Amino acid sequence: MNPVDQILQTSFPSVMVPTREAIAPMAAPGERLLIASNGVFLEIDRPWVRLVRRLGAFEWQTAVPYGRAEEETDLRCGSIPADLVAEFARIARAALPNEAGAWIVWDAVTGLFRLERLASVSHGPSHLRYERPELRNGEWLVVDCHSHGRSKAYFSSTDDQDDQHDVKLALVLGHCDRTPSVALRLCAKGRFELQAGIPAHWVASLAGEAV
Ligand SMILES: [Zn+2]
Repeated sequence: MNPVDQILQTSFPSVMVPTREAIAPMAAPGERLLIASNGVFLEIDRPWVRLVRRLGAFEWQTAVPYGRAEEETDLRCGSIPADLVAEFARIARAALPNEAGAWIVWDAVTGLFRLERLASVSHGPSHLRYERPELRNGEWLVVDCHSHGRSKAYFSSTDDQDDQHDVKLALVLGHCDRTPSVALRLCAKGRFELQAGIPAHWVASLAGEAV
C-alpha cells in the first residue's frame, strides 16, 4: 500500500465487525467504516457523542460472514442545560431584527457546558456569517445555535450547506420576539436527523424567558 493510502487507512479505517465479541472501541476521536453482515455502517466518535449509522445495505443476498452492527446513539455529555438555551434566546431577542449565533460547548475534562457567543462577520434580518470560534483545549462544539429573528424556526438550504461536515446538534430559534419556535436536528457528517420535539426542560425554560 502506498503511504497516502496507509495514512488514510489509519485516519479513516474500515473494520470487520467481529462475530463473537463486541467491536473494540475507537482509540481516538474520528470516524471509521464498519463492515457488517447487514451492511456498511459509519461510526463517529467524539468525547461527547458516539454514533453508528447504516450507510448502505448490500445490493444482493450473499453471505458476508461478519457480525451484525446496529445503529447506536450515545450522548456521553449527558443532558444539555436549559439555562444555556434560555441564555441564547435572550441574546437572539436582543439582536432583533437581526439574527444571532452561539455555540454550546462542552469541556470533556470538567464535564461542564458553557455558551460561546459568536461574533458575526456580517449579519442582517435574513443571514448570518461568523467566524468559527477558537475553543479551549478539550472543549467540543455540541449545539450550534442560530436565530431567525421574527421568522419561524426551520432549516434553510443555507443551513444545510453550513451543517454538511459537522458532528453537532443544530438549533434554530424563530419568532424571537415572543416564546420562540424551535427546530432541532442532529448533524452527523452529512446526515441530518430532525428531532420531533425538544427536551421538556428546554420548553419550560424558553417559555419562562418570554414573560
Ligand atoms: Zn437558519
